[in-house]
Amino acid sequence: MSVKDFIEKGGTIVIDPTEFTQTPDEFLLEYGNIVDTICIMAKSETGSTFFSSSNAPKDQRYGEVFSSFAQIATDIGIRVYGLVQGNLDGFFSRDPNFQMYKSGGNPIINYVCPNQETYWAYLAEICAEIVNRIPIEGIILKDVVYPRENTCFCENCKRNFSSIAKIDRDFSFEQIRRNEARVDLWNQSRVDAIRGLYSTVINRIHQERKIEVLTELCIDPEIQFLQGARAQLGQDIASLSQISSHVLLHFYPWSNYPTTQEELDTLITEIAPITDRIGELKTSFYMWQPDEMSFEIFNSLKEKIGSKFLFFTENQPKSYLDRRSLHLDLGV
Ligand SMILES: [Zn+2]
Repeated sequence: MSVKDFIEKGGTIVIDPTEFTQTPDEFLLEYGNIVDTICIMAKSETGSTFFSSSNAPKDQRYGEVFSSFAQIATDIGIRVYGLVQGNLDGFFSRDPNFQMYKSGGNPIINYVCPNQETYWAYLAEICAEIVNRIPIEGIILKDVVYPRENTCFCENCKRNFSSIAKIDRDFSFEQIRRNEARVDLWNQSRVDAIRGLYSTVINRIHQERKIEVLTELCIDPEIQFLQGARAQLGQDIASLSQISSHVLLHFYPWSNYPTTQEELDTLITEIAPITDRIGELKTSFYMWQPDEMSFEIFNSLKEKIGSKFLFFTENQPKSYLDRRSLHLDLGV
C-alpha cells in the first residue's frame, strides 16, 4: 500500500522535512482533496528546528519547512499538528551538565536528562514560539522518555535520588535493584520528572493559546507493555492522562507488529486499562513505517476503541537501530 492508500483509509501522515521528497505545494496538489489533518515535525532529534526559532538552532537546509507548510495547509483548511522531540535533542545534550548518563557514568548520546528544569524551560519557550507564530491545531510532544531503567545517573539525578532514598550519593542501579522499596522510589522519581517536563511545557503553551498537547506512551511487548513503559521509560499512563486529556499511543516502536490473533489478543488485554477509560480519555495511535497488514490491524483497532487519529510515518527514524539497542539494553 502507498502513502495515498493509508491516507485514504484514514491515516494521518507525519512529515519529517529532512526525508520528505515533495514540496508542500506538490504534496497538497496530490493529497489536498483527501487529507484533512497532517502532522509536521517542528523540532527534530538533532535539536534543530524547521522554523525560525529565537531559542533553538534552525535546520540549515529545511529551516522554514514546518512554518511554510503549516501556513499553506491551514490556508486551504487542513488541520496541522506540530511534532516536537522532547528530551531527545542532539544540540542541547552536547552540554555534559544536561546530558543523560547510565549507571556507571557513561553518557548517552543525543539524550538530555529529563529532570533538568533548565531544559524544561528551553523546550517550553520553543513550543511557545510555535504556538505564537504558526497556526496549528495541536502539538505532539514526543520522546519524553528515559531510554532504560538504569538511567539517569547525571550529577543532578544522583543528588536528588540520594536525598529521596537517603542513600550515599555514589550509588549504582544494582544497589537500587536489590531493594524493592528503592525501586518504587526510583520509578516514581522518574515518573515525576517526566510529569514536571510535560507540565512546564504545557503550562507555557497554554499561556499563549489553549491548544491540545499530546503526551506519549510507548506500548511494546519487548518491555512488557504498560508495566515496562512505567518501569523502563518513566511513562506512566495514570500520570500522563492527568497532565493531558489526549495521549498518543506509540505502538511497537522496538518490536515487529503483531501478526497473529494471539498476539493481537495479548495487546488488547494489555491495553485494557486505557481502553476501559476511553470515554474520559482521548487517545491517538502512532506507528513508524507500518506495512499494509499492520496498518489495517491498528486502523480497525482504532475504530473499535474510538481513538482519534492514526499517525504514521513513511520511514523509521534514522537513529532507529541505535535507539532500539539502547531501549532494549542490547549492549551493542
Ligand atoms: Zn539526570
